[in-house]
Amino acid sequence: MAGNTTLTIIKPDAFGNAKTGKIIALLEERGFRILASRVMHMSKDQAGEFYAVHKGRPFYPELVEFMTSGPCMPMVLEKDDAVAALRGAIGATDPAEAAPGTVRKLYAESKGRNAIHASDSDENAVRESRFFFAETEILAAR
Ligand code: GDP
Repeated sequence: MAGNTTLTIIKPDAFGNAKTGKIIALLEERGFRILASRVMHMSKDQAGEFYAVHKGRPFYPELVEFMTSGPCMPMVLEKDDAVAALRGAIGATDPAEAAPGTVRKLYAESKGRNAIHASDSDENAVRESRFFFAETEILAAR
């Protein structure tokens, strides 16, 4: 059964472009509820570990550089079938291919600087939520 929580990160490009409020508003309008949130500036070690699955890919150094270039905003979100719902709301990795009305179509600059992260499975949603938040910092899901 699909879980009802997922992890998102408003990335440094959107944070720097002052789009955090618009992105949160879009997500709330789509029915997501915020269970945890924080503003932080990731270290190289943190970003490297978070994206360890991409180690060895050509874009990995650029990805770590970008994710540590400014503040970001991780959030745990709740909604029925949260992982699939959020992937739908953010759109394709490359904003040029993202559907109209998605976060990336509206706010991303490029395939690398693409405004937002979303977990791609329930297993990763749990792992990624615990990467940023202690259990006591996450509101109980309904
Ligand atoms: P996502 O699940 O849609 O975020 O995409 P992936 O898991 O495939 O990639 C993770 C992140 O790495 C993306 O959101 C981008 O920020 C970055 N990325 C992926 N592909 C590229 C690429 O070809 N070039 C650059 N610069 N960054 C990329």
